[in-house]
Amino acid sequence: MSDRGVVWLGSPSFPEAARTALADQQLRTNLRRATTTIRDKRLAVAAELDDWEELRTAAEAIKRRTARHLDRYLLQLEEAVTAAGGSVHWAGDAAEANRIVAALIQATGEREVVKIKSMATQEIGLNEALALEGITAYETDLAELIVQLGEDRPSHILVPAIHKNRTEIRDLFAAEMAHWGEPAPEGLSDDPRELAEAARRHLRKKFLAAKVAVSGANFAVADTGTVTVVESEGNGRMCLSLPETLITVMGIEKVVPTWSDLEVFLQLLPRSSTGERMNPYTSTWTGVTEGDGPSQFHLVLLDNGRTDTLADTVGRQVLACIRCSACLNVCPVFERTGGHAYGSVYPGPIGAVLTPQLVGVEQAASLPFASTLCGACYDACPVKINIPEVLAHLRAEVVEAKRHPLSPEALAMKAAATVLDSPRLLSAAQKAASLGGRVLAREGRIGRLPGPLHGWSDTRDSPAPPAESFRTWWRKNREGTP
Ligand code: SF4
Repeated sequence: MSDRGVVWLGSPSFPEAARTALADQQLRTNLRRATTTIRDKRLAVAAELDDWEELRTAAEAIKRRTARHLDRYLLQLEEAVTAAGGSVHWAGDAAEANRIVAALIQATGEREVVKIKSMATQEIGLNEALALEGITAYETDLAELIVQLGEDRPSHILVPAIHKNRTEIRDLFAAEMAHWGEPAPEGLSDDPRELAEAARRHLRKKFLAAKVAVSGANFAVADTGTVTVVESEGNGRMCLSLPETLITVMGIEKVVPTWSDLEVFLQLLPRSSTGERMNPYTSTWTGVTEGDGPSQFHLVLLDNGRTDTLADTVGRQVLACIRCSACLNVCPVFERTGGHAYGSVYPGPIGAVLTPQLVGVEQAASLPFASTLCGACYDACPVKINIPEVLAHLRAEVVEAKRHPLSPEALAMKAAATVLDSPRLLSAAQKAASLGGRVLAREGRIGRLPGPLHGWSDTRDSPAPPAESFRTWWRKNREGTP
């Protein structure tokens, strides 16, 4: 991981990783099946709402307004959480967030924690950081459990094990569950119900024994200090209610001003992510309540590159992302390469625009190019993030970052600007290019150019320039005619 986490250091660039992924027929079959199913469900439930477009517009407006006054809403959130008996911690980057969480766990004297699926904790590499402190984090989301048992990496925001099919999961459970606790039952089949039951039995003892839970957050309401987690399996609800201490790591962009604002997102998120009308489990809590749930609540507010992103007037719109993964499921590139090719915990179209902004374009320079710019992600996004616009913006940044003021490309551009600025120089250059082009031409086409210029001619099939430029022809034949 980099200093800010997010990317897996040592991963090949996107084109290289994509080439390997494209050769994996099984992976492509798994992805096609999974993304097509989710895509169809999303379209059907979104079409049920007459005001779907109005909801999207409202969500976009709420996120924009919140981003404009983010400092104010975060302080309001801190005040409300503290007033309700919770504690708020501020983390500038991944390393600081990991230190805070590890210290909070150590203060309880525990060495094991249960975890709810969370992109923020993946982003900062929390499990690995806790392992270095001798603390074991047990993932309780079924897909995250599959990734953890396989010592794998997640490949999708919502379905981290989307790259695995049922048979692969059955084999993994049979081989690995015993190393982490309750073993898989004898003769386990690849029937989804049997797999879910095996996971349930495996996790039950962890839930009952855990004194500390770690979660992420989908939203936090500034005016009441209420934190929200949405999930499908109920494992999250167990983590949020059984342990004595709850530690939540939340990106600072997840704050929303009021409950009325939350209502908009609770309609958009389930339809866009799992294709459901509402989330099976929506948990909300405000600080601590005596005799009900954890007696200690810590909220870690994570920056990790977000304020830098906020400073970019085009790129800041990605902070509106509610991690629904609709853009992944409609992306023709993601469907063929899968998530690992992006080398980041954030794959797909949102990963291609979020990762370079969180870690800096130099560290993820190939990602803004991992797109056909077809715009399907923009159409699908429930908060109307214009991903193609941000991709084009980041491509320009990558080019700019790579350009050395004395590089051949920069010098050539400077020379071109001078020539194009002067009609006299342009005419002379056209004559020289025409002459040179015809000298180098073979059978009406420009052949191999000398020196470093051959990189240009090797990949192009260009006709030889005409003997006379259009400007010269015009001067000879048309100038002075009415
Ligand atoms: S960018 Fe939009 S579609 Fe993609 S995960 Fe974020 S909210 Fe969902």
